[in-house]
Amino acid sequence: MSAQAMPSPTHPSPREMPFEEIDRIVHVAQAAAEAWASSDAGSRSRLLRELAAALENGREQLVALANEETFLGAPRLNGELDRTAFQLRAFADAVDAGEPYAFIDDPAVPGAPPAGHPRLVRVTLPLGPVAMFSASNFPFAFSVLGGDTASALAAGCPVVVKAHPAHPRLSAAVFGLALAAVREAGAPQGVIGMVEGASRDVGVYLVRHPGIAAVAFTGSFAGGAALQREANARPVPIPFFGELGSTNPIVALPSAIGAQGLALAKMLGASIAQGTGQFCTSPGVLLMLEGDATDAFIRELAREMDSQSTHAMLSPAIRSAFDHGVDKLVRHAAATRITTGESSADKHPVPNLVALDMDAFLAHPELREEVFGPSCVVLKAGSVDEMLAALRAIGGSLTVTVWGAEQEDADSRRIVRQAAAIAGRVLFAGVPTGVAVTRAQHHGGPWPASTQPHTTSVGLMAMQRFLRPVALQDPPEWMTARAGVPL
Ligand code: NAP
Repeated sequence: MSAQAMPSPTHPSPREMPFEEIDRIVHVAQAAAEAWASSDAGSRSRLLRELAAALENGREQLVALANEETFLGAPRLNGELDRTAFQLRAFADAVDAGEPYAFIDDPAVPGAPPAGHPRLVRVTLPLGPVAMFSASNFPFAFSVLGGDTASALAAGCPVVVKAHPAHPRLSAAVFGLALAAVREAGAPQGVIGMVEGASRDVGVYLVRHPGIAAVAFTGSFAGGAALQREANARPVPIPFFGELGSTNPIVALPSAIGAQGLALAKMLGASIAQGTGQFCTSPGVLLMLEGDATDAFIRELAREMDSQSTHAMLSPAIRSAFDHGVDKLVRHAAATRITTGESSADKHPVPNLVALDMDAFLAHPELREEVFGPSCVVLKAGSVDEMLAALRAIGGSLTVTVWGAEQEDADSRRIVRQAAAIAGRVLFAGVPTGVAVTRAQHHGGPWPASTQPHTTSVGLMAMQRFLRPVALQDPPEWMTARAGVPL
């Protein structure tokens, strides 16, 4: 049994699904693949809208179940359910606008090559059944009917969900509503399936399954890396779209601290502790230039973090990983703990702010690992060059936030260039927690933030992950008359 799946009174072990049952679920998804791939916009958007309505209609029961299993609280869970329904409808709108059917038509040019060429029509085809691994920390938005499922269905791919063992009853309830919505929308049976297991064997079996054409994963670095190896080791390797952990550095420059230090310290402290820090975009590193104003900001931030209340973490395994991660940081010879709250096993975790010596941070990769929970490392740099070295050492991150780059100058340019080199999203105001679902959104980034840095798992462009281009050369008229709808 995996560490993540250890049973407890609040997290009973999910049912271990026999491999024969997984075979049957994948075969049903395969059988649905052709009809779903060639479905028109009306059929796909009808299903996506039915799924959104099913979530909203089941809100009371679903939020209560989610709260029992995750402790995230009703306000946050209601907001997450709203976001998940919004996301399903946003993909329905994109489908109605013809986005998955977009094609490029190069008319024939008479004459000798290279200028002369036949007619070429570049269309896209759905990849086929997608194995979708839910995350524990977003029981709606990155789970059974979350962004990966919505974008894969919009692209024309059936989805086989691997339920997260931290919320098995919620997953079953949402899946039940999804099946009813599939029937109501008249979509092919098998367009959404779900597997569950008490051991990691279930997920590994699913990724290895010859009927699976791609994997969408949201979760830890270790889990994503292990499953990506499985996807690559298959006789026929398949695309693995993993969104993994991240430390989300905040670069707070003197001009921002001088202008609005107190407000920024309060906002950052609340962001680090929000949801007991269980966000992939939670700020995990604060990078500042040495100085009195910086010291005052750090004291204020620590006060703010000490005043924040937290709740129980998602599972006992996540709590124990947090305690272990904090312990590793604060016991390091180069560390000074700044927050004063005392943690103990019988209390909710306390927010942790720890200052690290820059040389030690640069020299020891283990000090740069994500600590999933309300924990942040502070680094004081002697120069902008040292700040850049720290960002380079951190490497791929979902986000980098830069406060104080309003004026264009050489240092701002260097910092922003380095931030963009390592991050999928660069913010110049606010905090990285909270990821808007829009067309321009990019939620990913260079390894280890994601396994495919040119793709996003949030926002409308997420659909493109599941579409494969094919160039049709001199296609017959009946084929182009389909205007990008696959055969
Ligand atoms: P997780 O422990 O990696 O679990 C994700 C799923 O993968 C679970 O179903 C898990 O099953 C399975 N799994 C993990 N390791 C496996 C392995 N070696 N073989 C087969 N299956 C495996 O992640 P989580 O607890 O859900 O989420 C917390 C982490 O996700 C944090 O690091 C957070 O930053 C990250 N996250 C990232 C994003 C993003 O968008 N990038 C969003 C949310 C969360 P078992 O539990 O049975 O192992």
